[in-house]
Amino acid sequence: MGACARRIAVVPVGIQASSLRAPRADAAAWRMPSPHAPPSRLEPLVSRVKPPPFEYLAPRSLDEAVAALAEHGDEAKAMAGGQSLVPLLAFRLARPSVIVDLNGIGGLDGARLDGDTLELGALTRQRDVERLPGLRERCPMIVEAIEQVGHVAIRNRGTVGGSLAHADPAAEWTALALALDAELDLVGPGGARTVPAAEFLISYFTTALGPGELLTGLRLNVPNGRSGSCFLELARRHGDFAIAGVGALVTLDGEGSVGDARVALIGVGERAVRVAAAEELLRGRRPTAELFAEAAAAVQAELDPNSDVHATADYRRHVAGVLVRRALATAVGRAGGGDRDGAA
Ligand code: FAD
Repeated sequence: MGACARRIAVVPVGIQASSLRAPRADAAAWRMPSPHAPPSRLEPLVSRVKPPPFEYLAPRSLDEAVAALAEHGDEAKAMAGGQSLVPLLAFRLARPSVIVDLNGIGGLDGARLDGDTLELGALTRQRDVERLPGLRERCPMIVEAIEQVGHVAIRNRGTVGGSLAHADPAAEWTALALALDAELDLVGPGGARTVPAAEFLISYFTTALGPGELLTGLRLNVPNGRSGSCFLELARRHGDFAIAGVGALVTLDGEGSVGDARVALIGVGERAVRVAAAEELLRGRRPTAELFAEAAAAVQAELDPNSDVHATADYRRHVAGVLVRRALATAVGRAGGGDRDGAA
């Protein structure tokens, strides 16, 4: 660990689960201390934080971060925007003894649309991609998906890399990465490697990241030409994770038929999925409402969603079919083609 890295020990007091729900008689003890309080009163208050104790490391380079993660192994967790990790710590569902904060490392952020490639640093805030000039016109699906990630405050801090590394099966970024054939750059103790999104996303909160490995950036393929795209999802409230979501991208050929199609879904399995059977069925065909319904049925036949407190498996499958039909119709309309009646 280089001399410039900062180490801070955070030493919390104990907390009971009940104290997370309702104000308690001693709630005053949890208030932020007044900056005007004398140091003797400040000291015990600042140590009263929700997470379990951890050592905080703030490396200044990728090498330092990788070395810190390698040194502490399973005990360490990288932190980017903290929008998934901090809630897990606060509820004590994650108990790393070392947090390696990536925010002080230069060169890991930035968003650039260059030809057919959207290049993103892992630390790029989701909101910065959402506001990238020209992106909505070029590939509306990307902006439409990001707009449904939590709320603006979350996207202001939450990073693209953090979302992909966290790998929630309902995360919008996982559908984008699959639909846009993303290639992800990883760096770890064994060096650098590049992994396609389809191999990176493995299962619930599980990725191809090895011990001590970090995601440093990714490239997404954004087709030019006669293409249209759309992202739709159903959530109980705006900002909630999706019950089901669909990203569709269609490129038309010179005859107005489907030249290429990509259909990716979230919320309907252990990870985001791309449905090759539906894409294959669409290629070379005239884009009509009947074709979109056929594609939706092909998607529904492939899915194996779970039932949980939010929705039954049948409901998720049904919603997925409806969203596929609508997203394809909108994508084709945006590409300037299709049976407009059917597409409506
Ligand atoms: P962190 O929370 O810092 O890290 C998350 C995980 O990824 C940790 O395990 C961390 O170790 C690891 N990690 C982070 N960066 C890297 C890296 N570069 N390399 C390797 N590992 C890394 N997300 C959605 O997709 N859709 C939603 O609708 C949604 N709603 C939300 C609502 C609320 C109220 C909140 C608090 C969050 C919501 N999120 C949602 C999550 C949000 O998008 C997070 O920002 C994102 O999942 C994690 O990004 P982060 O940068 O905050 O990562």
